[in-house]
Amino acid sequence: MDYKALLDRIAQEVAPLVGSGTPAEYIPALATVDPGRFGMAVADVDGNVYGSGDWERPFSTQSVTKVFALALALSLGGDDLWERVGREPSGNPFNSLVQLEYENGIPRNPFINAGALVVTDRLQTLTGDASSEVLGFLRQESGNQELAFAQEVAASESEHGDRNAALAHFMASYGNIVNPVPVLLDHYFWQCSIEMSCADLALAARFLARHGLRADGTRLLTRSEAKQMNAVMMTCGTYDAAGEFAYRVGLPGKSGVGGGIIAVVPGRCTVCVWSPALDEQGNSVAGVAALDRFTTLTGLSVF
Ligand code: GLN
Repeated sequence: MDYKALLDRIAQEVAPLVGSGTPAEYIPALATVDPGRFGMAVADVDGNVYGSGDWERPFSTQSVTKVFALALALSLGGDDLWERVGREPSGNPFNSLVQLEYENGIPRNPFINAGALVVTDRLQTLTGDASSEVLGFLRQESGNQELAFAQEVAASESEHGDRNAALAHFMASYGNIVNPVPVLLDHYFWQCSIEMSCADLALAARFLARHGLRADGTRLLTRSEAKQMNAVMMTCGTYDAAGEFAYRVGLPGKSGVGGGIIAVVPGRCTVCVWSPALDEQGNSVAGVAALDRFTTLTGLSVF
């Protein structure tokens, strides 16, 4: 497949949509990003990477990192995690508090904020330094040792972090957060602040297309765990738009409010797209459209 020509065609087709929607404003450091950016990259299972537009330009990964934290927590700590977080779509916004009380402090899934806080808490217990573990993992899998936390973004999110603090304290009241909440929040905000390009993210996510094998050929997850992670991405990776994403794109995917989305074609490749303007659910408008075109033009969906 000529991925480069394909990505150039998609970039051209979705150009009219680039800038529709609004960049995340609730984290002030993200509100100033140029909404006119668009990049897209594909990494095949052998590590070849192809791209179009701003595919080598770093952006704020935000919730896309929830995938990598979950993979590490499962790989180091196993299935115990699933006693503390579910695997059902929430049907609610990613930062919603509303289900948590009805469901006794157990978040619906690991890809909404409450669930990701539980995952980070688990990773913190397992490693003593959750955010550095995630950063080190991303550096290794992408091959880019320059990846770093964006201090300004982490600080901005911390300053405006009342909602995440509320989620964490509320879960702590049910005993579902065990580390001190301020420590947990710091690690969570650091993790969300990591900046990567589409090329970096597509390369880093390849273990999901390689049935659990890392870039160096060692095993991170069993084949079954990789299948399970892809399934949770498919059903929960784009919050209360996961049904629509499955309908349009038909791939496991995970979005972030920085405008990035990763998608996985198991056994074949990973795709990362970035464009900062978001729809009401917090997913990149041009990004979802580009992935829709990708699977429509190639037939590379899981369906
Ligand atoms: N850091 C963001 C938050 O916690 C991540 C949300 C997202 O990307 N959906 O609100």
